[in-house]
Amino acid sequence: MEDSYLHKGLRKKLVEELKKKGITDVKVLEAMNKVPRHHFMDSSFVHFAYKDQAFPISEGQTISQPYTVAFQTQLLNIRKGDKVFEVGTGSGYQAAILLELGAIVYTMERHKTLNFNAQALLPKLGYNPHFFYGDGYEGLPSYAPFDKIIITAGASEIPSKLIQQLKTGGKLVVPVGTRVSQTMILVEKISGNNIKTSEHGSFVFVPMLKGRD
Ligand code: SAH
Repeated sequence: MEDSYLHKGLRKKLVEELKKKGITDVKVLEAMNKVPRHHFMDSSFVHFAYKDQAFPISEGQTISQPYTVAFQTQLLNIRKGDKVFEVGTGSGYQAAILLELGAIVYTMERHKTLNFNAQALLPKLGYNPHFFYGDGYEGLPSYAPFDKIIITAGASEIPSKLIQQLKTGGKLVVPVGTRVSQTMILVEKISGNNIKTSEHGSFVFVPMLKGRD
């Protein structure tokens, strides 16, 4: 799959834009500079791949805005070898960023078509997360606990089953709010039932829905 000088140049500009917008983690910026976002886009939007915007994919869903991907990833402080659970595979772009950072990625999607498309695309690009078709609210109890959990859809509340699936000392990031706007919440698990939460600004995600489609 082609990754031309033009694509690489546009990606470098995007990374400069992310720096200006406040992304400071060098490893996150390097990962954003490596992943060819144009391969994750719908063919009609591919020319806009390096704009800092969300774009439609199929099933009425979106590929998240690069700034949002970088921001959530930075909050999680991903380390090589971290076991990470992602809710909302979507295009697979966020999963690719996590893999570039050396994480072991478990990604779940509730739309069959999106799950199928991501499973076809990512390995071709050299990205091999573990794919699951299911409801992220339930998580993956048989693979838990996780070092980090990232939710890439807007939830109405912090999903309690996912807190249970987080390691002590682990971090979970989730946008929580209404359909029109959510607050980015970072949850840190101090011990069994003891969590610390902090707020990190407003974002807009597609909704996190219960069940599978
Ligand atoms: N991480 C994606 C963002 C996709 S948008 C990317 O990088 O492209 C959010 C995705 O979450 C959508 O594909 C949507 O179908 C999915 N989603 C919403 N609710 C879900 C749930 N309960 N479980 C799993 N996936 C869910």
